[in-house]
Amino acid sequence: MKINLDEIFDYTSFNIDRDPHIILEENVCQQCDQRACVNCCPAACYTWDEDNKKMTFVHDGCLECGTCYVVCKNEAFSRWRYPRGGFGVAFRMT
Ligand code: SF4
Ligand code: SF4
Repeated sequence: MKINLDEIFDYTSFNIDRDPHIILEENVCQQCDQRACVNCCPAACYTWDEDNKKMTFVHDGCLECGTCYVVCKNEAFSRWRYPRGGFGVAFRMT
């Protein structure tokens, strides 16, 4: 079965952990000249507000792909782990 990225949320459910599995130090992002996370996150968890120079991160829709951890060169996370057991994303491919 082949699906594209836009369709993936049709096959996805979340059990959101209120204790976030990723904690972003948003002040680090203010100094970042790259912000690769904004373009790379498939779930659009990162939003950069250019007018106010402010990063917003929401972990609720995280697909746990790990891309943001890899592309961030500034160690902007005070926590990056996978969700606790029973929480996070569940993919249904049938
Ligand atoms: S790449 Fe890292 S430091 Fe830069 S905006 Fe994204 S999370 Fe923040
Ligand atoms: S792990 Fe993937 S989906 Fe989750 S915030 Fe990082 S880039 Fe986005």
